[in-house]
Amino acid sequence: MNFDSIKRVQDVDIKNKKVLVRVDYNVPLKDGKVDNNKRIVATEKTVKYLLDNNCRVVLMAHLGRPKGKVMPEFSLAPVAQEVQRLFGVPVHFAKDCVGPQADKVVESAKNGEIVLLENLRFHPEEEKNDAEFAKQLAKHGEIFVQEAFGTVHRAHASTNAVAQYLPGCIGYLVQKEVEFLGKALNNPARPFAAVIGGAKVSDKIMLLNNLLDKVNVLIIGGGMAYTFLKAKGMEVGKSLLDESKIEEAKQVMDKAQAKGVKMLMPVDFRLAKEFSETAEATDSDTIPADMEALDIGPKTEKLFADEILTCKTIFWNGPMGVFEFPNFAKGSYAIANAMIEATKNGAISIIGGGDSVNVLKKGKIDQKAFSHVSTGGGASMEFVEGKELPGLTALENK
Ligand code: AMP
Repeated sequence: MNFDSIKRVQDVDIKNKKVLVRVDYNVPLKDGKVDNNKRIVATEKTVKYLLDNNCRVVLMAHLGRPKGKVMPEFSLAPVAQEVQRLFGVPVHFAKDCVGPQADKVVESAKNGEIVLLENLRFHPEEEKNDAEFAKQLAKHGEIFVQEAFGTVHRAHASTNAVAQYLPGCIGYLVQKEVEFLGKALNNPARPFAAVIGGAKVSDKIMLLNNLLDKVNVLIIGGGMAYTFLKAKGMEVGKSLLDESKIEEAKQVMDKAQAKGVKMLMPVDFRLAKEFSETAEATDSDTIPADMEALDIGPKTEKLFADEILTCKTIFWNGPMGVFEFPNFAKGSYAIANAMIEATKNGAISIIGGGDSVNVLKKGKIDQKAFSHVSTGGGASMEFVEGKELPGLTALENK
C-alpha cells in the first residue's frame, strides 16, 4: 500500500463544507445509554477540527450485527445523545441513513452542527459494498473522511464504495494507526522485535510469516508456544496443542533461521493441575504429563524482557498466558512493563488490538505509557499481516 498517496483531513480544503465521516461508534449500550464512550472520544480531534472549520459534520456508523434488518435495540439514537453531550453542539439524528428522511435532516442541519445517521447495517446493501447504496450515502457530503479504523478491513459501502463518489481523506485517528502499524513497522528503527502470543496458532501463522520478513527478533509466548515447543521435540503435558499445525510451526522456525531472525521461546512455565481461575501456579522448567502450562515462567519473563530492552521497535500482539486468571497474568504484565521501560529509553512500542489491550485494562496499565495502542482488533491484525485494507485502498491516489 502507498500510504503517502492518501490525503489527510488537514491537507484538504474543508472549510464550510458538508463532510461525511465514517466513524466507529460500535459502543456498548446499557439501559438505553452509552456504557463506554471511548470510541466516540477517540474521534474528538477530527470532529472538533471539522466543527472549528465551520463544517456540517455528517457522521455514519454501525452498531452491532442487525444483519440488514431494522432492529430497535441496535439503533444509534442513544449514541446521538452522547455525541451531543461530548461535543456540545446540536446533533440531529436521522432515523435512516439514506432516503428522503436522511436527505432532509442533512439538508436542514447548519454548518457547525452534527448529523448522526441511523445504523448503516439496517440495510443489507451496506455489507455488500453496494454501489447504489454508497451513492446515496455519498449525497450527504462533499468530502469523505475515513475515521473508522475498526472497520477499514471491511469492504463495505460506507468504508469502500462510498469513496468512488467523493474526494476522500483520513482523519487523525486513522492517521495515527497508519503512522504506527504501517510506517513504523514497515520501516522500523532497529533492532525490531515482535512479541506474539495468544491461543490459536492457526490465527497467527500469516502474521508470523509476514513479520519474519521484517523483524530481527521474534518472541513467541501464550498458548500457541506449546505447538512450537512440541515441534522442537519438547513434552508439553496437557498444555494447549494444535497437532495439525506442528508442521507449519516447523516451517516458521526454519524461515526464521534462514532469514537470520532470532527466535525466543519460553524456557520455563507456570503450571496448573487444571484450567481454573483458582488453580495454583507451580514454576517449572518442564511440563509433566498431568499438568498444563498457563503462563510463561519467571526465567522466561527475564529472558523476554532483557531482549525487549535491547530493541528500538517492539510490536506486541497476544497474551503470554491465561491473563484472565490472576495467577497466570504475570507473564503478560512482564511484557507490558518491559515495553514501557523500553519506551522510556526511546524505543517505539506498539500494541496490536484485541486481547493485548484487554491485558492492559485488566492490569490497570496506562495505555499512554506506550507509543501506540491500536484501536482496531481485526483491522490491526490484518494491517500487520500485510493484507489489503479496503477502507484505505479506496483512498489511495485520490
Ligand atoms: P487469541 O485470541 O488467539 O489472541 O488468544 C487469546 C487467549 O489466549 C486469551 O483468552 C488467553 O487466555 C489465551 N491463552 C494465552 N495463553 C494460554 C495458555 N498458555 N493456555 C491456554 N490459553 C491461553
